[in-house]
Amino acid sequence: MYPEAFSYHAPSTVEEALALLERHGDDAKLLAGGHSLLPAMKLRLSGPTHIIDMKHLRGSLDYIRDEGDDVAIGALTTHRSLERSELLRGKLPVLAETAGCIGDMQVRNLGTLGGSVAHADPAGDLPAAVLALDAVLVAQGSGGTRTIAAGEFFHGFFETALEAGEILIELRIPTLAAGSGSSYQKFFHPASGYAVCGAAAVITPDASGNVASCRVALTGVSEGAYRATAVEEALVGKPFSEELAAAAAEHAADGIEPLEDYFADATYRGHLAKTFVKRALLTAWERSG
Ligand SMILES: Cc1cc2nc3c(=O)[nH]c(=O)nc-3n(C[C@H](O)[C@H](O)[C@H](O)COP(=O)(O)OP(=O)(O)OC[C@H]3O[C@@H](n4cnc5c(N)ncnc54)[C@H](O)[C@@H]3O)c2cc1C
Repeated sequence: MYPEAFSYHAPSTVEEALALLERHGDDAKLLAGGHSLLPAMKLRLSGPTHIIDMKHLRGSLDYIRDEGDDVAIGALTTHRSLERSELLRGKLPVLAETAGCIGDMQVRNLGTLGGSVAHADPAGDLPAAVLALDAVLVAQGSGGTRTIAAGEFFHGFFETALEAGEILIELRIPTLAAGSGSSYQKFFHPASGYAVCGAAAVITPDASGNVASCRVALTGVSEGAYRATAVEEALVGKPFSEELAAAAAEHAADGIEPLEDYFADATYRGHLAKTFVKRALLTAWERSG
């Protein structure tokens, strides 16, 4: 199926892209890797009359930089670059691990971190890792830049805190505390490969084997990725064990109405949430220390 007709723009700078966004308002869409937008346009779920292709911005928005306390990642960094980055594998391995679970090689070669996060697909993988890593997202608009904590970014079904006319330009991710372990565990949809349920966990032990801190986030289960704070609270300050992880994981869908579709009803998705959170916790703990 062909998309509706549109005018094509390929600005050279973020400022030019922002000016185009301002001029064309709701009629315009930014194009990053195109692996969510183009299918939606072909299915006529989205019909922008102006496409603002960011391909010439790769020079300025495609990078992974060690900035000491943070790792800064440009919004146009591809899933493949995340997956292969030695810096991430060393400092934020769960991000590389999550990116490696996305689609196939073609999707990972073109799809971008910024596109995935801005699109906020309820079954997208990276939002869970971004939440568990407590990232800070940097958005630029015509009035300048602002930062948004990951915990305030995802607003549900394809909705985020980004405002009209803003471009997500960077994610800043705090380096994990020494000894932390992390993991992303995914139940792949057998047809699409998207997450029916994906759980990301980051755990830091203290010297006596207790859980000093812990962040757990899920995708696929609800209308948007979310932090499972009840799981975190059930773990912190306690000596880690498989029994504790299982008991904490029982809270994976607390306060959530799990999604339902022909593949997985709400009960099944709730069950998957508990199972995959437990797996993520056990693996993260195994990798800690
Ligand atoms: C066959 C297939 C399998 C896939 N499997 C998976 C999977 O298993 N897991 C998964 O998570 N994803 C999967 N995807 C989606 C893929 O990860 C996409 O690349 C990603 O969701 C969107 O990134 P993109 O760069 O392609 O964005 P685009 O498609 O270009 O854009 C998506 C949306 O975000 C907006 N946008 C993009 N960049 C920015 C920005 N910097 N600032 C503001 N708005 C922006 C666009 O305007 C658009 O509305 C799959 C896609 C395909 C085609």
